Amino acid sequence: MNPSQALILRAAAFAAERHRHQRRLDAASTPYINHPLALADVLANEGGIDDPLVLCAALLHDTIEDTETTAAQIEAAFGAQIAAVVLEVSDDKSLSKHERKRLQIEHAAHASAPAQLIKLADKICNLRDLLQTPPKDWSAARKREYFEWSARVIAGVRGVHPGLEAVFDAVYAHVEELA
Ligand code: NDP
Ligand code: ZN
Repeated sequence: MNPSQALILRAAAFAAERHRHQRRLDAASTPYINHPLALADVLANEGGIDDPLVLCAALLHDTIEDTETTAAQIEAAFGAQIAAVVLEVSDDKSLSKHERKRLQIEHAAHASAPAQLIKLADKICNLRDLLQTPPKDWSAARKREYFEWSARVIAGVRGVHPGLEAVFDAVYAHVEELA
C-alpha cells in the first residue's frame, strides 16, 4: 500500500470515530459515516479522482461542522492543506440556517478546486439520499426546495469537473419524481 492510500484509510477511520454516535435523518437512521464514504466513492469511482487531498477532505468534510472536531485537530493528524479544505467546506454554525444557505451559494464560485469538488459530491449524495432514503419527516415541497438550493450552489462551481457536473444534472433531473 502506498502512503496516500494509507492516509485515505486513516481519514475514513478518523471520520468513523468522530461520527460514531450520529445517524442520518432517514427512516432507517443510517449510520452517519455512510455519507462521507459515499462522497469519497463518488469522487473516486464516478469522478476518477485520486488526489489524496480531495479524498481525505471529503471523508472528513462534516467532522468540523457536525462533531466537536477542530481544524487544529485535523491539521495535527492530516496536515494544514487537508485542514484548510475541510474548513472551507464547513458552514459557520454560529450563523442562522438561512444565512448559511445564502453563504454556500455566494462562496461556491470562489472556493478552491478541491472544495468545489467536495461540494459537487456532497450535493450529488444528498440529492440521491432525498430520492432514495429521505429524511423521514420532509414534505415533497421541502425536498424540492433543497434540490433547487443545491442547483444554485452547484451553478457556482461549474467548470471544475464536467463529468461530475453531468452526474449532478442527471440526479437533479429526478426532481419531478419527488413525493
Ligand atoms: P437541514 O439543513 O436541516 O437538513 C439537510 C441536511 O441534512 C443535508 O444538507 C444533509 O447535510 C443532512 N442529511 C442527513 N440525512 C439526510 C438524508 N437522509 N437526506 C438528505 N440530507 C440529509 O435542512 P434544510 O437544508 O432544509 O435547511 C433548513 C431550511 O429549510 C431552512 O432554511 C428552513 O427555513 C427550511 N425549512 C423548510 C421547510 C419546508 O417544508 N419547505 C420546513 C422546515 C424548514 P450533510 O450533507 O451536511 O450531512
Ligand atoms: Zn455532507
